[in-house]
Amino acid sequence: MSPNLVSFVYLIAAILFILGIKGLTKPKTAVRGNFLSATGMLLAVTVTLLTVNNVDFSYVIAGVAVGALVGGIMALKVQMTSMPQMVALLNGFGGGASLTIALAEFVTRVGLVPSSLSDIAQPVAVSVNAFGDGLLGTIAIVSIGLTVLIGAVTLTGSLVAFAKLQELMKKAYGLPGGPLGNGLLLLGAVVSLVILVNNPGNLAAMLAILGLALLLGLFLVMPIGGADMPVVIALLNSYSGIAAALAGFILGNTVLIVAGSLVGTSGLILTQIMCVAMNRSLSNVLFGKMAAGGEEIDADEIYDGKVTSAQPDEVALMLETAKRVVIIPGFGMAMAQAQHAVRELADALEGQGAEVEYGIHPVAGRMPGHMNVLLAEAEVPYDKLVEMDRINPTFEDTDVVIVIGANDVTNPMARESEGSPIYGMPILNVDKAKNVVVIKRSLSPGFAGLPNPLFAMDHTVMVYGDGKKAVIEMTTALNQL
Ligand code: NDP
Repeated sequence: MSPNLVSFVYLIAAILFILGIKGLTKPKTAVRGNFLSATGMLLAVTVTLLTVNNVDFSYVIAGVAVGALVGGIMALKVQMTSMPQMVALLNGFGGGASLTIALAEFVTRVGLVPSSLSDIAQPVAVSVNAFGDGLLGTIAIVSIGLTVLIGAVTLTGSLVAFAKLQELMKKAYGLPGGPLGNGLLLLGAVVSLVILVNNPGNLAAMLAILGLALLLGLFLVMPIGGADMPVVIALLNSYSGIAAALAGFILGNTVLIVAGSLVGTSGLILTQIMCVAMNRSLSNVLFGKMAAGGEEIDADEIYDGKVTSAQPDEVALMLETAKRVVIIPGFGMAMAQAQHAVRELADALEGQGAEVEYGIHPVAGRMPGHMNVLLAEAEVPYDKLVEMDRINPTFEDTDVVIVIGANDVTNPMARESEGSPIYGMPILNVDKAKNVVVIKRSLSPGFAGLPNPLFAMDHTVMVYGDGKKAVIEMTTALNQL
């Protein structure tokens, strides 16, 4: 294929990636966005394969078949509530892929396959042309070293994120010295990188970068718990993109540079948005600062004798006269798969003349946009999904707020309790409404592990039970009034 044609197809692929990302910014266009990006990637991969000499297509076809099978099964089987774990795993695979490209390129260019351990300590004399002359050579070895560093951090960091979200790893571990310990690991890896750049045949330096970066990924993510997790996932997503872009520099593949840069920058923008949404500083996340434990909070002291419960039919009586109702979905709505039932309740309320909106917190559920996706699946109109900043001023004029399976995102402690781990996180101020109905199975805490004083307020009633069942009972009772 002529180089001009290849560049032209790469350009088309890059445009498709950009249009794809643009599509992903709105639920309405998200499916089309995904399709455009996937088409761009298919084009890019096909053209790349056609331009490389001596490709054994039997390996390529076998790889595509196995990958498509595993990916297809995972995508079909994974529950919506487990999607963040899957994203974490995919980020890790992305980082791992870039890492292996860089290592393979290093070994090939240096012509180095050590036959014994003692070889590792001996820098080999690399031919001047192994990495290219002058500036190009420096760019090549810097790209290889950086790809190994970032790819390895992404790989182990993402695996830890997966283990945490899958609840395989429940405790937070950290290096002594916390951020300082991580800083030392990073410093060690950067010094090894400088040594490698000065002597590209130094296998010991390459192994040091690899080992230190693998450890850094572990210790960056292991201390991070609860409320910071979404930020970490977005950040690791960005790292996987940066590693891919660097791999593009190594291979001289422009479309890989473009695709990697898009993932890298959009991941960073998402990280920034999440930080603002959760009031976490990016430096705390970057340096793996141990999540603040705060003082022990006694749930009994908050709840004892102060919590009122109600049955769904009692709530229906309250709803019958409501003029404005706001529904607050959370992780529990996803767990109960109650989105369709919630929409039917909203239809019934609207049928009797009430205004109904949904208040969406940016980190409600277990991934960014989780609630939007679920409610879109139940065909709730997009204009009824109102973001936190816009819905908050309306609560004082709201007759009833129905909180379904949401907890942390409504916890007034974030506003008032300075010692609390979620202090400063912006929340949905549902306690300002005239009446609050909370549907959940018990008084158990949410993801951040904290009691919620909202449940004990005078104008709050708890409806205990599975979210879907409780909402269906409410709708039935309302329709019978
Ligand atoms: P929470 O995790 O705070 O609370 C969810 C509540 O749902 C629980 O208290 C639980 O109570 C209830 N619940 C569970 N199953 C059911 C069910 N079948 N029916 C009814 N209720 C149920 O969720 P929020 O959405 O309020 O907050 C999200 C939290 O997750 C935040 O802390 C956020 O930082 C974190 N997070 C968010 C991510 C994101 O990107 N969105 C990613 C990772 C973490 P009970 O057991 O009593 O029923």
